[in-house]
Amino acid sequence: QTIHSKSRFVFEAIGRIHSCFPEKFGIPRQAGLVEEAQGAIELFSSFDRKEALRELEGFSHIWVLFVFHRCLGHAWKATVRPPRLGGNRRVGVFASRSGFRPNPIGQSAVSLLGVERRDGKTWLRLGGIDLLDGTPVLDIKPYLPYADHIPRARGGYAQEAPPSRRTVVFTPAAAAACQTLGQGRHGNLKGLITALLHHDPRPAYRDATRPATFGMALWDLNIRFCISGERIEVQSVGLGDR
Ligand code: SAM
Repeated sequence: QTIHSKSRFVFEAIGRIHSCFPEKFGIPRQAGLVEEAQGAIELFSSFDRKEALRELEGFSHIWVLFVFHRCLGHAWKATVRPPRLGGNRRVGVFASRSGFRPNPIGQSAVSLLGVERRDGKTWLRLGGIDLLDGTPVLDIKPYLPYADHIPRARGGYAQEAPPSRRTVVFTPAAAAACQTLGQGRHGNLKGLITALLHHDPRPAYRDATRPATFGMALWDLNIRFCISGERIEVQSVGLGDR
């Protein structure tokens, strides 16, 4: 069979992501940056076969191939502006991990925390995710340390580690709200918010010199925080006031 330039392929989602991120703002920029960001893959019934997962639990990490579904319907451009480059430098789309690409397919290497049966379905529990809630999953593959870990690899414009870590503090009211609202959502909501904000979710091109207040959604919660210099203060954690 000849594959030519107009070849089209149809793939079916094998499952979907359940995550704490209903919106893009605040999601880690890459997988593995915030291990506390946990979620799960719900396998769809046609692919929910015990034997299809045989031996998977021997791997600590997996590759999740997915569709950037919130980018569907957007025309792609040959160059993009990665947030980490301050928004004024363009790189080729194929030199980026942007979701706005000819085929909006993403790949994340995440921790596999466990495989469990619940509500008559199979769930793969994940750590270190960078995925929106509802993301369609195309495939799952084991991460192979001997082949996928390349110590001598060059990182181009992304050689350096992500931006410096901020100091995160909570008002007493916000800390107390984490205790009550964390129940049923995350074992350590304060720890999750702290880990997410350490990485400063703002794009690098924001004027970082002036204090400003931001809102970030986690599940049905709105997290309001103020950034001033190197310090981030979480001011409130509340339900449904977005
Ligand atoms: N690790 C993946 C990769 O390299 O293909 C994704 C990297 S991409 C830079 C990560 C960002 O994609 C997240 O911070 C979030 O803003 C965005 N994102 C996550 N899930 C998405 C989805 N389903 N549709 C569109 N954007 C998504």
